[in-house]
Amino acid sequence: MPANKTLLILPGDGIGPEAMGQVRRVVDWMDQRRAVSFDVSEDLVGGAALDVHGVPLADATMDKAHNADAVLLGAVGGPKWDGLPFEVKPERGLLRLRKEMQLYANLRPAICFEALVEASTLKPEVVSGLDIMIVRELTGGVYFGEPRGIETLPNGERRGINTQVYTTSEIRRVAAVAFELAKKRDKRVCSTEKANVMESGVLWREEVTKLHNESYPEVELSHMYADNCGMQLVRAPKQFDVIVTDNLFGDMLSDVAAMLTGSLGMLPSASLGDADETGRRKALYEPVHGSAPDIAGQGKANPIATLMSFAMCLRYSFDLGEDADLIEEAVKAVLASGIRTGDIMSPGCTLVSTEGMGDALLAELDKRAA
Ligand code: NAD
Repeated sequence: MPANKTLLILPGDGIGPEAMGQVRRVVDWMDQRRAVSFDVSEDLVGGAALDVHGVPLADATMDKAHNADAVLLGAVGGPKWDGLPFEVKPERGLLRLRKEMQLYANLRPAICFEALVEASTLKPEVVSGLDIMIVRELTGGVYFGEPRGIETLPNGERRGINTQVYTTSEIRRVAAVAFELAKKRDKRVCSTEKANVMESGVLWREEVTKLHNESYPEVELSHMYADNCGMQLVRAPKQFDVIVTDNLFGDMLSDVAAMLTGSLGMLPSASLGDADETGRRKALYEPVHGSAPDIAGQGKANPIATLMSFAMCLRYSFDLGEDADLIEEAVKAVLASGIRTGDIMSPGCTLVSTEGMGDALLAELDKRAA
């Protein structure tokens, strides 16, 4: 039996705790029914931490995150804390986690579940069977580059400045994550930048190509300008396997890809840092959606995005691909049986609460493990 894995759960605010409650049931199920054991601890983040500690992430929680094998987060934020200064807003808790854990690779899968093919705004034949992965660089580029700011020019005009900047190592480490992922998928990486108009894009293309030649000949590498990539994602998304791109383009392209699949309530993500000498990578898993204050506390939240984030955690942090498959298959089966939360409801299906979805998922897991 493998050694216990340490998992830090941070449910956060709004629908975060509701969705996480159902995931916790699956974690406990795994503990009891599969040959995996987790040392799970729970703590506060976001508004929930602000209310208790006066900060959106206590130092002790940060320490726990550093020491855990993986962190699973719900969502942060809500109207209660909207008026607070930027430095202490709930979202700062999440930013602190990402920054101090140095999570430079953001993984956003876009998978179209067959049962939800009609939920996409694109034609069924365009999205049916879609399974792509966007790897976005998360800690560099124009969101962090210096100089930055707004200055007043001698003629009284104002000028806003941000700087797109990437170094060799920043490009290579995120490209390596993309190549490694591709090796376990369809072995294709499309690297995306604007090398036609940006020097940082030229460097990006050169470094990705160099790394490919040196270490990943078995993976097919192609390059695409980011604007074309946006167009191709809505025209023929199934042409892609893994897309790797910088922080700014990744921000946009991953949202475009997300919408190919229908609902925010279905979308997981992972953010990975460097591996240590034992091969353990710092990792944070979280749904793409926020705290959804409009439905919080009403039992309407879809827990699948958070559950799929846990499945990613099993796959990428704990090397438990079979268990991740089991969860993903259970999700597919529940959706195929017509069980739906409100966000993915369609005529003829059965509407269930957050807990009802948890019940259905556990029943399906029981069936599969029997
Ligand atoms: P949101 O993702 O919370 O909600 C957008 C819409 O999608 C809402 O109508 C909501 O009801 C629906 N929705 C989202 N997740 C759902 C789910 N699991 N099941 C059913 N419906 C779901 O985005 P928002 O409304 O722009 O932001 C609300 C709060 O969340 C804000 O305070 C924002 O700052 C915060 N936020 C946090 C994160 C995060 O924690 N990573 C991300 C985005 C927004």
